[in-house]
Amino acid sequence: MHLRYSYRIYPTMGQRASLARTFGCARVVYNDALAVRKEARKAGRPYPKSTGLQKVVITAAKKTPERAWLASVGVDPLIQSLRDLDTAYRNFFDSVSGKRQGRPVGLPRFKSKRDVRQSLRFTRNGFRIRGNGKLNLAKIGDVRVKWSRPLPADPSSVTIVLDPSGRYYASFVVDVEPEHLPEVDAEVGIDLGLTTYAVLSTGEVIDNPRFLRKAEKRLKAAQRELSRKAKGSKNRAKARAKVARAHAKVADTRMDWLHKQTTRIIRETQAVYLEDLNVRGLARGRLAKSVHDAGWSTFRRLLEEKAARYGRTVGIVHRAFPSSQLCSQCGHRDGPKPLAVREWACSACGVLHDRDLNAARNILAAGQADRLNAPGGPVRPGVAIPRQARPVERGTRLGDQRTTGDRAAGAGGIPAR
Ligand SMILES: [Zn+2]
Repeated sequence: MHLRYSYRIYPTMGQRASLARTFGCARVVYNDALAVRKEARKAGRPYPKSTGLQKVVITAAKKTPERAWLASVGVDPLIQSLRDLDTAYRNFFDSVSGKRQGRPVGLPRFKSKRDVRQSLRFTRNGFRIRGNGKLNLAKIGDVRVKWSRPLPADPSSVTIVLDPSGRYYASFVVDVEPEHLPEVDAEVGIDLGLTTYAVLSTGEVIDNPRFLRKAEKRLKAAQRELSRKAKGSKNRAKARAKVARAHAKVADTRMDWLHKQTTRIIRETQAVYLEDLNVRGLARGRLAKSVHDAGWSTFRRLLEEKAARYGRTVGIVHRAFPSSQLCSQCGHRDGPKPLAVREWACSACGVLHDRDLNAARNILAAGQADRLNAPGGPVRPGVAIPRQARPVERGTRLGDQRTTGDRAAGAGGIPAR
């Protein structure tokens, strides 16, 4: 199982300059290769293979006066940049052919100097960790690392990331064995809410943390300040940096909090069931802000990754499942409930329901029924959904390994009368 371990790094001014040059070269190589493929596509020629492409945009290009500066940086990040382009194309082709699930993936796009996030990848040949704890990067030098926690094994690659607020990170991919926790009996259904963050079928309510609201207030203030500064002025640049730092603070705070919540839930329960919310669909409407704030998709992803790692199960109940309409007591389908309705009484059995708690109980029942009906029986390993690694986030996460996990689909079991 591939996990990512990210650490803040502190390159010197000289190393920053070298990194900036390498970011630039990797971007140029990526764009040159993309241009060749776009040309071929336009001219109706076959898709240029990566090996040939590498010779054109790296080896041969270095010998031309226009691209001679490519020779001034390490070759490993340039090759990795081409691999990234291959992955982007593969995702596109798989998406078109229907092999890849989820939202459609478009053709790769050209990278820009102004992209908010810059990154570089080194494979085993391009880096090593020195005895003194410094990270040696080929043609860059020994970079100081803040080892916030130990690396569990030898990493197979490292991605160097420069985030919009000017911080550098080293994100290592490490192959580790899953560490299954002792089994527990508890299973839980989770309803992700808007007024509270989530409600568990046990009755537990997870609230939106206040410190996050505070960080968001500071971000908003910084944004207002930025909008008042004259374009192109020095003060505007300063204000923009402040906004970027505030953004980073909000993202970090939210991530830390999500890690804590998901770790606790996975430790305490054997199986977790969630609704497959159409977060993208919701995000387009009025609920946009709260949806993004809540970070539901991240919450779900962290649960899935931790379940895979610790031998737990995450089941996803289909979005069409009417979790807020069914009575969790008697199974009666009581009809749609507008978001404003926080409490309702079942018209069949008369039980008074808290909207979210009732939904969480229905999700638990539907998830358990799905699991029992699934081929292979009720005992399933944790779910891991293949994803591209996005190294900018901190903390432990699955890398780009492909695991064929099972996801409960459909809402079997609950009578929908
Ligand atoms: Zn009822």
